[in-house]
Amino acid sequence: MPFALHAYAITKDKKIPVQHIFYGETREEADQHFNGHVAACPMFGPAEREGRMTTFFEEIDSLPTEESVDDEAEEIVADDPEEEEIEEGEGGWW
Ligand SMILES: [Zn+2]
Repeated sequence: MPFALHAYAITKDKKIPVQHIFYGETREEADQHFNGHVAACPMFGPAEREGRMTTFFEEIDSLPTEESVDDEAEEIVADDPEEEEIEEGEGGWW
């Protein structure tokens, strides 16, 4: 089963401005992507060094593809309440 490694960088004032997700066919592969990125990342580098990071693995059915990401983006945009508001306004629902 492939894995998604979710990583959150937490700032000194306890905010989370950024999340990364690293994918791999195995936990090890996701972890390699994580390690390859973190050292060079301006948000995650300092968070890693200072222990201000939360990470966890999620077992996923399949790795994302360009197509699945496009589909997901379309769904999310379609579910966007602001987007609905615009449609409702234009459609004269009220
Ligand atoms: Zn980064």
